[in-house]
Amino acid sequence: MPLDTEVLGRRGEIATALRRLIAADSVIEDAVGLKPYETDALTAYQQPPLVVALPSNTAEVSAVLSYCHANGVKVVPRGAGTSLSGGALGLADGVTVGLSKLNRILKIDYENRVVVAQPGVTNLAISHAVAERGFYYAPDPSSQIACTIGGNVAENSGGVHCLKYGMTTNNILGLEMVLITGEVIRLGGAHLDAGGYDLLGLMTGSEGLLGIVTEVTVRILPKPSHVRAMLLGFSSCEAGGECVARVIGAGIIPAGMEMMDHLSTNASEDFIHAGYPRDVEALLIVELDGPESEVAETIARIRAIAEGCGAIYASESNSDEERLRFWAGRKAAFPALGSISPDYYCMDGTIPRRRLPEVMKRIAELSDRYGLRVANVFHAGDGNLHPLILYDANRPGELDMAEAFGDEILKLCVEVGGVLTGEHGVGVEKRDLMGAMFNQADLDQQMRVKCAFDPKHLLNPGKVFPELKRCAELGRVHVHRGQVRFPELPRF
Ligand SMILES: Cc1cc2nc3c(=O)[nH]c(=O)nc-3n(C[C@H](O)[C@H](O)[C@H](O)COP(=O)(O)OP(=O)(O)OC[C@H]3O[C@@H](n4cnc5c(N)ncnc54)[C@H](O)[C@@H]3O)c2cc1C
Repeated sequence: MPLDTEVLGRRGEIATALRRLIAADSVIEDAVGLKPYETDALTAYQQPPLVVALPSNTAEVSAVLSYCHANGVKVVPRGAGTSLSGGALGLADGVTVGLSKLNRILKIDYENRVVVAQPGVTNLAISHAVAERGFYYAPDPSSQIACTIGGNVAENSGGVHCLKYGMTTNNILGLEMVLITGEVIRLGGAHLDAGGYDLLGLMTGSEGLLGIVTEVTVRILPKPSHVRAMLLGFSSCEAGGECVARVIGAGIIPAGMEMMDHLSTNASEDFIHAGYPRDVEALLIVELDGPESEVAETIARIRAIAEGCGAIYASESNSDEERLRFWAGRKAAFPALGSISPDYYCMDGTIPRRRLPEVMKRIAELSDRYGLRVANVFHAGDGNLHPLILYDANRPGELDMAEAFGDEILKLCVEVGGVLTGEHGVGVEKRDLMGAMFNQADLDQQMRVKCAFDPKHLLNPGKVFPELKRCAELGRVHVHRGQVRFPELPRF
């Protein structure tokens, strides 16, 4: 995307103007101050923003966006910067709008079982705020201690318990958002349905391209009375994958169902000593929750299915400490793999669960072909794969190879009927692969939605879409003898 040199030349002027709209010390333009904003969790990409603005409330977000819109300045919304797809990566000619100061829980309503939070509140803080009354917020990304609810909405984030309780989109009821013009709109509320288009659904997963979320109304759930976890070991990933498909096929929806391969199981065991069996090729961690009798019966059914798939190891937690220990290994899997490889590249694709055994086999073949190890740690019940490609960035060419390997995995996901991302978003990382999943008509139609919200392409440009088309081009404006239709509409 070409740099807007005119905006670059007005950097000082833009920072001064923003200081008139929000507190002066909430506008950052010095190189050291910009440093923390130059990347997100996809650290391979780095770009310090033109300026960072840290508004404190909706009115300030509105003022900043209104100024940027009027002055043709691009905007990148940012929560905690834990995006794994480069969604919050800065732009040299754009203002990064950080939402960290909008960090208050505005309302806890136990009667209607909702919490209203500002976008900078962390995911885990919502569960903590309602824990004393026995409630929690179900979607639980592994980054939940740091990532914000605004970022979760923008990425439609998921986690271990989304298999049973749904992703972010299934757990939010209302949003307040600021459009690029500075207008403030409300979508949904504390009620269950809203009239008109499902704009709430559209906003969820929109990766900061349609507006800035300034308030979120989420559902909260009572904690289940009983929770137990199982460990199931198999002598091949195919057998583990088959067990996942059969459990779901039998109509059982566990609270969580995760899979780790031999490499990740052993790395975790070395790292945190969770008590995992070392001689299995695939380890399933399955959590069941609900009334005690239902949990016990479901455990027995899953055990029988696992035996039918040739399980070589099975155990169940008999206390909450033991259950948490089972999970501790899974939660530490990424840092554990970081301790056995200088670098890793975490992929995120989703496939139909039935195709798990075949896809596991083909990823292993690709691993041999590229000569790079791959560790698989993933939300097996959702078919959401997280293959981690292990490489060494100091070895010339290995990063490029890891990226090419990753592209092949994602194309494989699409080939078997899946999608490019399960929960990490498209961002800059998978932008150029969108054509593998969508045809031009699909992409054009998605772009028309973007144009309806942001005709000047000022919000998070360069993310999600492989090429930016001017909105007028999408309308295929036909010019006959120099006469354009609707001459009164501004063009750019
Ligand atoms: C160790 C680790 C583990 C992870 N595990 C998971 C996981 O299990 N499941 C999962 O889904 N993700 C996971 N992630 C990815 C990441 O945490 C999520 O995508 C998260 O939702 C991002 O939230 P954030 O506040 O950090 O957003 P950011 O990274 O700051 O931004 C992410 C995107 O949202 C946009 N955005 C942010 N705030 C707003 C807002 N208020 N309004 C509009 N747009 C906004 C940004 O422009 C960007 O496009 C993990 C990341 C790490 C580093």
